[in-house]
Amino acid sequence: MNDFDSNFSMTIDGQAADAPQTGEAYNPATRAVIARVPHATRAQLDQAVTAARRAFESWRSSSQADRAAALNAIADVLERNAEAFMRLLTKEQGKPRAGAEWEILGSVYWLREIAKQSLPDEIVEDSLDRRVITRFSPLGVVGGITPWNFPVLLAVWKIAPALAAGNTIIVKPSPFTPLCTLKLGELCRSVLPRGVFNVVTGGDELGQWMTAHEGIDKIAFTGHTETGKHVMRSAAGSLKRITLELGGNDPAIVLPDVDPQAIAPQLFWAAFQNNAQFCNATKRLYVHEDIYDEVLAALVAFTRTQKVGDGAEPDTALGPIQNAPQYQKVCEYFDDCRRNGYRFATGGELDPHAKGWFVPVTLVDNPPEHSRIVTEEPFGPILPVLKWRDEADVVRRANDTIYGLGASVWGQDLAAVERIGAQLEAGTVWLNEIHQYAPGQAFGGHKQSGIGCENSLHGLMEYTNWKTITLNRKAGFGRGRVGKAA
Ligand code: NAD
Repeated sequence: MNDFDSNFSMTIDGQAADAPQTGEAYNPATRAVIARVPHATRAQLDQAVTAARRAFESWRSSSQADRAAALNAIADVLERNAEAFMRLLTKEQGKPRAGAEWEILGSVYWLREIAKQSLPDEIVEDSLDRRVITRFSPLGVVGGITPWNFPVLLAVWKIAPALAAGNTIIVKPSPFTPLCTLKLGELCRSVLPRGVFNVVTGGDELGQWMTAHEGIDKIAFTGHTETGKHVMRSAAGSLKRITLELGGNDPAIVLPDVDPQAIAPQLFWAAFQNNAQFCNATKRLYVHEDIYDEVLAALVAFTRTQKVGDGAEPDTALGPIQNAPQYQKVCEYFDDCRRNGYRFATGGELDPHAKGWFVPVTLVDNPPEHSRIVTEEPFGPILPVLKWRDEADVVRRANDTIYGLGASVWGQDLAAVERIGAQLEAGTVWLNEIHQYAPGQAFGGHKQSGIGCENSLHGLMEYTNWKTITLNRKAGFGRGRVGKAA
């Protein structure tokens, strides 16, 4: 299987579209430019909206079977080109092979599973007098805006339900990882009706144009909490529907009855999967004081067995930080910890000569609860490990955040695990496991981690309007009935 060529064009109305201006895509492991990326003009966004609106007129009345076939066709495109997509994903995002495989094959699986979902009419009343149904009718044109950490999967989480519910879609990937999405659009041109799935690329301003565009009916957004607030404000102008999947500061609580050696690898990956550039990464690790030292030592030892490097090398476990601004941001957390005298149990030393945006996996030994590294979302491989003693107190600390995306609890005493889990304020609470997702499982954030959800029939419903249709079966206005008793 060959790699994709390095020509990338947008997909508007089923056709290739170049732009007068272009930007650059980088390989974060080398900082080398790997492709030029079109920057859509406002007029091109308008064209995409017009095409998507036109396509909606027929797509809205397509059958469930046609829509399922379309999702399966996208899955086939991804699967047939899986090797090339994985390599391109590693090149543009930085993630090692295992992560790229999980994302690309996961996307195939998601498309096939969402293809099986449907929202039949709900019968509210079916009596001799009246029939009342609720129908889930499509909204129109969806704008999907995605981040750079899981560019393919998070696009699929929007494309699949949008099309399955009878909408058309315009996807705008992150300017840092546009290539796989552009390629997906290109390869889908021959398998989908024109205008049903469009891909436009550009900077953040393109996202702003989309959220303000009168011709777009819904924005499905994944990204920072602060960006989500901009999206909500801008979408208010035309009262667009919104789904916001935003930031997190997920706590993990470890009970005193676990074996430190056995649990260390699981806790490591809970925090550092995708090089910690993961909304649901464990970002605060609360370990009971009885086993704190042992767990920290086991984590340090495990960390030393994991290679940080270019994701294209077969033995790499953790790749680079994906882009320069994020690298700068992560470096600030290292500086902040150093300035405040917090102890690094491992890591902490940045290499200014590294070829790519690499930082070492770093564990911060019991920093104060109010420190930036505990209260904020670094989105990089630097993790505060914290001590706890009292159950009520650790639950309070875990919930003491503006975020509410995910949380996990780890222990042998299942009653205690469930009791603690029930008190955590988060959209997903994992007990003795983590990062278990499924197409049938609602995923979303509490508090400032989001609005609405993705996946499951609840997520599918967010791509529809509820339409209640009533039929009076005993209407008394037929000819010759005037004046007769009903
Ligand atoms: P970001 O908010 O900077 O960008 C996300 C997308 O929004 C990009 O496509 C960007 O171009 C676009 N954008 C930027 N400004 C915009 C604006 N004003 N209007 C419209 N669009 C705009 O986020 P990021 O740095 O790409 O991603 C990291 C963040 O995403 C983290 O906070 C992470 O927790 C969050 N995230 C959340 C989930 C989830 O499902 N909850 C999943 C992955 C990532």
